[in-house]
Amino acid sequence: MPKSILERLKQGVVLGDGGYLLALENRGYVQAGPFTPEVTIEHPNALRALHEEFLFAGAEVLQVLAFYASENKLAQIGYAGKLADINRAAVTIAREAANNQALVAGDLCLTWKYKAADDTAADECRQLFDDQIRYQMDVGVDFFIAETFLWAGEALLALERIKKAGLPAMVTLAFEGPKTRDGKTPGEAAKMLEGAGADIVGTNCWMDPAHMLPVVAEMRKAVKCYVAAQPVGYRCTDQVPFFTGSKGFPDKLNPYQLTRYELGDFAKQARDVGVNYIGGCCGCEGSHIRQMARVLGKKPLELREWKVDYQHPQSATEAYKQLREA
Ligand SMILES: [Zn+2]
Repeated sequence: MPKSILERLKQGVVLGDGGYLLALENRGYVQAGPFTPEVTIEHPNALRALHEEFLFAGAEVLQVLAFYASENKLAQIGYAGKLADINRAAVTIAREAANNQALVAGDLCLTWKYKAADDTAADECRQLFDDQIRYQMDVGVDFFIAETFLWAGEALLALERIKKAGLPAMVTLAFEGPKTRDGKTPGEAAKMLEGAGADIVGTNCWMDPAHMLPVVAEMRKAVKCYVAAQPVGYRCTDQVPFFTGSKGFPDKLNPYQLTRYELGDFAKQARDVGVNYIGGCCGCEGSHIRQMARVLGKKPLELREWKVDYQHPQSATEAYKQLREA
């Protein structure tokens, strides 16, 4: 059995996995727009294959696909009655794919129900989180990742519910700009979450590596606990530094795709500023995670030795080298 997430982090950087919903949307199994995860019961083999791909690429944690598997989100697409089935299936499939080679992280995320200084809304969020926690823990997860929160206040509620359930908690925020929707800088939000008992704090989704790096570096400086970063694999701009605001969202993102090397560079930069948990989010496929694994020294650089002869080419790679480098 793999060690616990906290034992693993004590030993060094842990590599997470990539993004599921956008990858499965690209393959035709998820609907762009709602981005709900009914794929867990409708096309379980497609999800299992993607988990296995990330594991093969070097991921040390498989995150269950329960993003937007809350009752309100599932109700939008007629699946409210399948809340338990979808959450349980998400964990079962990840467990099977992990095959004791990777940790399995439960998942909670933003609900779009949170409102600042509104006790009724807060209780509604608590209930949505508790339902997902209960069904995921029915099958069994090693820790929880609560992710993609635009409000620090909502992230704190998710953390409170995970703590109540007694599992380690990683809580990561998504940034649309320099502050959360409740006006916290990355450093302030990280400190709040650490103070409330989060084991790992950080940022995921929305931003590309270039825009996320300074955000997570600020968080790293602000806290003593473990820090996580999982950027998207789509290029953003300074004007709109988050991919969900780009003209390509939700289903014309191909031209914005980053290469594996850009995510590999991010892995190195994140490690160098002291980030402990490094992975990818939307737009990060197996190739990106594999390159991150190589850069972090978790995978060999080459699959097998290749005897290259540019004078007597036996492949396009050899034949057109000069043309590509001209
Ligand atoms: Zn994402």
